[in-house]
Amino acid sequence: MGGSDKLKRYKEKRDFRRTREPSGGGRRSGRPRFVIQKHDASSLHYDFRLEIDGVLVSWAVPKGLSTDPRDRRLAIQTEDHPLDYAEFEGVIPEGEYGAGTVMIWDAGTFRNLRADKGEDGLDLGASLEDGLLEVWLDGEKLTGGYALKRTSAGDRPKWLAIKMDDEGADARRRPTRSQPDSVKTGRSLEQIAADEADPDEARGGRG
Ligand code: MN
Repeated sequence: MGGSDKLKRYKEKRDFRRTREPSGGGRRSGRPRFVIQKHDASSLHYDFRLEIDGVLVSWAVPKGLSTDPRDRRLAIQTEDHPLDYAEFEGVIPEGEYGAGTVMIWDAGTFRNLRADKGEDGLDLGASLEDGLLEVWLDGEKLTGGYALKRTSAGDRPKWLAIKMDDEGADARRRPTRSQPDSVKTGRSLEQIAADEADPDEARGGRG
């Protein structure tokens, strides 16, 4: 399946004359990228996205990823997003799908731990099909291994995201609370929304 087919659901949900979200595209980089976008939509959640086979495979994680290996965080798989989405921070207008403010809460690159362990043929695409991803994140806020296990199929499959017990694990850290702002711009959700409402002010000019 080509990248354009994979993005069919993404494109069907959006009116690109109204939203400033990317309509597609983006180039593959050296190492696959990940991004976690904090999304203040009808309910606040974190969108976890992994670059796999030319798109950003995506999950909505209501509580965000934990650094405590004892936590099992629900992650609901959503439609694949274009690679360029990893750079998107801004406001999706009222009436559009996902209306609300989007922040780049964490970003970086990742490795496929199952391939590192030498499991035959288990590239990321095969791991996704298999319903078990094991990835090592090199982000600014989150580092270390995470397992994602699919627990139900269907239109929006449910997965569990679990921190592996390694040097990136910390049962006391609460990064969603202690590090709430954007890794790209340092802004809070409120600042992003205010800047979008008054772009001249955001650029430091006079409105
Ligand atoms: Mn979202």
